[in-house]
Amino acid sequence: MGQRLLGRDGMRDWQQLEQKFYMQTMKRVPLTLVRGQGAKVWDEQGREYLDFVGGWAVNSLGHCHPVVVKAIKEQAQNLIQASNQFYTVPQVQLAELLIQNSCLDRVFFCNSGAEANEGAAKLARRYGKLYLNGAYEIITTHQSFHGRTLAMVAATGQHKFQEPYMPLPNGFKSVDYNDIRAIRAATTEQTCAIMLEPIQGEGGVNMPNERYLKEVCDWCREKNILFILDEIQTGIGRTGTLFAYEQFDVEPDIMTLAKGLGSGVPIGAFLAKEQVSVFAQGEHGSTFGGNPLVCAAAYATLKFIIDSGIPEKAKRTGRYLAEGLESLKRQFDFITEVRGRGLLLALEFDSDIAEAVTMSCLNKGLLVNRLKPNALRFMPPLIIVEKEVDEALGILKSVLSGR
Ligand SMILES: *Cc1c(COP(=O)(O)O)cnc(C)c1O
Repeated sequence: MGQRLLGRDGMRDWQQLEQKFYMQTMKRVPLTLVRGQGAKVWDEQGREYLDFVGGWAVNSLGHCHPVVVKAIKEQAQNLIQASNQFYTVPQVQLAELLIQNSCLDRVFFCNSGAEANEGAAKLARRYGKLYLNGAYEIITTHQSFHGRTLAMVAATGQHKFQEPYMPLPNGFKSVDYNDIRAIRAATTEQTCAIMLEPIQGEGGVNMPNERYLKEVCDWCREKNILFILDEIQTGIGRTGTLFAYEQFDVEPDIMTLAKGLGSGVPIGAFLAKEQVSVFAQGEHGSTFGGNPLVCAAAYATLKFIIDSGIPEKAKRTGRYLAEGLESLKRQFDFITEVRGRGLLLALEFDSDIAEAVTMSCLNKGLLVNRLKPNALRFMPPLIIVEKEVDEALGILKSVLSGR
């Protein structure tokens, strides 16, 4: 029998147990969450928090939204998993809805963002083999983030993620973001694709220059190579339109999605134009990918997001939050920048106080993400309302006033 670790009030101490049994790959916030509703979550002691992390930009409709809960309950009673050897209804419904509402023609479902990007990279390589004389190299950018599989670590242009795992799979090359000349210079006969995030999320909520995405897209057209957009963080309404590419006058050949697509259930997807959808039968697959349970939840999520105009609401609430943050910037001279789009925003300081600010916010009932040692990120549920934004800004202001 294992040792039984008890915490306060004789309850099991989950945080101590985690440290005993779980691989210690991340520094966690000392908070055990047991319940969520809308933009609020509760810990074991029943303390309430306003959630501006939102499952890491995942809970697009907030926690336990009734349409998502209903879809999961109903589907769980009918069919949870069937092999992809068979047709299932929610998978096709979700595929149709995504294709009808994007510039892409076909989709493949998987279980996470990294897996979606892996699929996109494999598809680009197949395209290169078939149509580009075997070109296989994919150009990405510094400060990008594309996931944690070995190939996506190679694609991610950040040394800290790569160094522990070298040597990495080859075929990826990173250049500076917002530098079209660097992309042109890096393009060779071996290049099959360029992969970018419309706004770099993990790398710092870094905004593209006015013309950057259009210039990269045009360059891809000129060179007949593929333009891949990783919309895993920016997609599904996060930046104020269903997909961020809509705001930059570009259309990707391949687009990847995950985070907000299922409002909490694990699902990823990559979509492609018809002429790029070149996988032959047997060349790609997944046991769980597109399973009925997650697809029913994602279909309910996406349908609600589209039918209720959630991206437009995210744009308005995002603007309201950004204005509030700008107002804080005017009041506190150690705030150096507010940036982002829609409900993907960052607040930067002139020194490394983000950890301390995050912890003080936590103590006052607000969850925010420490994006960098000197910056916070805000990625609340898209259904957040102005009153909740006011509440968050109030807590943030009181924390910053105490510094
Ligand atoms: C989160 C994220 C990923 C990785 O998604 P996982 O589901 O963690 O594998 C990839 N790309 C971007 C832009 C992301 O934000």
